[in-house]
Amino acid sequence: MSMKPDQICYLCGKKNATTRDHIPPSCLFIKPKPSDLITVPSCKDCNQYFSKDDEYFRALLVSLEINKSSAAEKIFEEKVIPAFDKSSRFLDRFLSQTKEAEIYSEGGIYLKDGVVIGYEVPRIENVLNKITKGIYYKEKGEILSSEYTVMSFPIDYQFPKEVIDYMNDIPIRYVGDGRIFAYRVCGMKDDNNIIYCFMFFYNSILVTTFTIPVKEAQEIKRKRKEKKGNDIVTSDGGI
Ligand SMILES: [Zn+2]
Repeated sequence: MSMKPDQICYLCGKKNATTRDHIPPSCLFIKPKPSDLITVPSCKDCNQYFSKDDEYFRALLVSLEINKSSAAEKIFEEKVIPAFDKSSRFLDRFLSQTKEAEIYSEGGIYLKDGVVIGYEVPRIENVLNKITKGIYYKEKGEILSSEYTVMSFPIDYQFPKEVIDYMNDIPIRYVGDGRIFAYRVCGMKDDNNIIYCFMFFYNSILVTTFTIPVKEAQEIKRKRKEKKGNDIVTSDGGI
């Protein structure tokens, strides 16, 4: 779909949004795709730049959900396996983050031996950044100020019960029947630029993101780096 040339791109903020980008990436859906997919104005460059990250994000999500969601299973068979077949580099990169490991509870008690699916944080962050900015645009009708950025909690981060209760009180919005994507969004009274997004992929993966002033985000990232020293987190690890 083409747009008026003076529309502002929801990612880079330049006035050349001649295309529309899907929120979340349309590759996450199976055919027939829902008719109410969210789209936001985007420039051609931003629209295409992240397609590899979108593919990686999809491979990670459906790998996590393969035994739980028939939609995830279908996408794994029809899209992810052929993508792995086509590019052994993609498969290698993906598998290099996944390893057998001893899994412990949060309190440090040994639970079992299992497979830990790790992921490349920058790629996943790129996609979550896009989705959050897209939801922000849809909510507010304007792009997120450049003084703000997006941060996310690790995929499947275990939130305390109070947070979950609070989240459950926010109305849920479905795309299509919600089997592939649904979300809750809330703002903050004292800062209009801040939103919290609780996103549900394939019915069960909860990903939480929020917008935050750039300066505060840099401070948090600096602290995280001191603690971890690398940019790989695991699906059942903490921050
Ligand atoms: Zn752009």
